[in-house]
Amino acid sequence: MHYLLTELFEYDELSDQAKDRARREHSKMLSECDNRVEDVRKHFEISLEKIGFPKEDIDFSLGYQHSDGMAFYGRIEFSNIENILKYADQDELAHNWKTLYDAGEVNDVCFNISRKSLGLHYSHYNTMLLTSDSPPCCKFIILKITSAISDVIKAVSKKLEADGYKLLETRKTKSYIEESIRTTECLFKKSGEPTGLRIYSNETFLKEGTNIKCDYCHCMKFTKTKKDVISCNNCEATYKVKTYHSMEVR
Ligand SMILES: [Zn+2]
Repeated sequence: MHYLLTELFEYDELSDQAKDRARREHSKMLSECDNRVEDVRKHFEISLEKIGFPKEDIDFSLGYQHSDGMAFYGRIEFSNIENILKYADQDELAHNWKTLYDAGEVNDVCFNISRKSLGLHYSHYNTMLLTSDSPPCCKFIILKITSAISDVIKAVSKKLEADGYKLLETRKTKSYIEESIRTTECLFKKSGEPTGLRIYSNETFLKEGTNIKCDYCHCMKFTKTKKDVISCNNCEATYKVKTYHSMEVR
């Protein structure tokens, strides 16, 4: 039978030294979880959609390597061409395109961003290739538009790559990590070592379905033994907990 009374601390109750450790460990945990990558992807999707680029096939790798970056592939919707040209301050081309479009001259033109062979292994501003086919009548103008959009694709890829790094960097700052610790309501040992336990009221602690685990045997069932002490049903390790008022039991 174990009898280890582990006193649990909230982040703000730790010593400065223990706080350092808590932040270090929490940051490691953050970088291992996929959410942040998903946040970056979400940002890419929203930004691409706003401009008018396809967002269904996005590749990125942000590890500070030369070959890293972001890229996006797919067919550009017809109706978005004007918007993309305007985004690039190519008002005259946008106007030309609209005239052709309204006259029904460019119905068969297809703008497609495909992977260069380089894009099979890497993702960055230079792995995308914009191709278009055009009816002979407006070959010249379509070529100009294609070249302008190619430039936009590179610029957007570089901008989003920088955004992505910024998003990831923010997550290394002290204030971000502290905020994350407080919102996830983690509990620590005196040393700042994370316990995997979170702040729950005693009642919630004992309720089935909470996702807390015993530190020693990973069992998830606890029994309240006396005031502020709970014990693991399996290995009988005990935890001192406080009655927290921040979470209401529903
Ligand atoms: Zn246990």
